[in-house]
Amino acid sequence: MLVVMDAHVTPEQVRAVCDKIEPLGCRAHQIAAAQRTAISIAGNCGAAEIATLKEVPGVKDVVPVSKAYELVSREVKPDDTTIYFPNSKATIGGRELAIVAGPCAVENRDQAFAIAKCVQRAGAQFFRGGAYKPRSSPYSFQGLGLEGLKILAEIRERFGLRIITEAIDHESLELVEEYADVIQIGARNMHNYSLLKRAGRSPKPVLLKRGMAATLEEFLMAAEYIMSEGNYNVILCERGVRTFSDHTRFTLDLNIVPAVQRLSHLPIIVDPSHGTGRRHMVIALSRAAVAAGADGLIVEVHTDPDNALSDGIQSLFPEQFEELMSDVRQIGAVVGRNLRAGPGSAIWK
Ligand code: PEP
Ligand code: MN
Repeated sequence: MLVVMDAHVTPEQVRAVCDKIEPLGCRAHQIAAAQRTAISIAGNCGAAEIATLKEVPGVKDVVPVSKAYELVSREVKPDDTTIYFPNSKATIGGRELAIVAGPCAVENRDQAFAIAKCVQRAGAQFFRGGAYKPRSSPYSFQGLGLEGLKILAEIRERFGLRIITEAIDHESLELVEEYADVIQIGARNMHNYSLLKRAGRSPKPVLLKRGMAATLEEFLMAAEYIMSEGNYNVILCERGVRTFSDHTRFTLDLNIVPAVQRLSHLPIIVDPSHGTGRRHMVIALSRAAVAAGADGLIVEVHTDPDNALSDGIQSLFPEQFEELMSDVRQIGAVVGRNLRAGPGSAIWK
């Protein structure tokens, strides 16, 4: 349900609407857009009570929203969402492309620092690297945990890159929100509603990866779980889905980029590394993702992929990542996007 307020609504009038809704056990989310102020009401309040809202001063209209993902939808917020970071020019969403790069996993301090140096040089704004790894086999490298998070925090200090890293459960989320700039919820946890709700109570933005068999609607409803708890800084990420195709690890579903953009105001980035699982395809699919209108990329890069502890076969060499950045910059210009170099880029300013 959406309560659309008059153009010159006062904060007191907005408060009066919230005060009417909240005792009914529903949550009011204020949505300020360029053209209007609206209040989205999440939960099941009685229809009769809602009808009386039309009489409250400052209320222009009360509109039913038919979708199960109200806060995520463009019906409720027509303007695109841009996510900003304190003390940084980095953004996700809007005109600037957001490029996130780094190893699959933080393996040790030297490895992570060497890769961060290359990623920074090539112009990325964000560094990725798992400290908690949700591996298919329990015997595979599971990540360095807290030690990995501390290395990532050092990388932010040293290179000025914003840090994105995955939380796999409530315990790791507590730590990830303390050390990182963005909390990643991985494909395997997209349906973990308790974790999504916990991420929704965090002050940090959340990068939500699409489950490997999730429909568009399920993906958007997972984002709604996060937003319904009050965290509106959600970034969606397409990372490939399971299909009959066995020439790639997953099938990168770029169709979802314009499909999401039609329905939702949230930014969507693409992961061509997991989406292909093949190093030689990553640059081509990165170009395609930007051409399709993605708001950015998350890419695995490694200085010694043959000896990587996870996902070496899909990790780019640093020179390939530089090539990718140059290509993406040119393609971005064609589709009205800019690639602002991160701090310390040696390639361009
Ligand atoms: C990752 O980004 O390292 C990862 C595990 O991705 P996904 O959750 O998409 O498999
Ligand atoms: Mn990986």
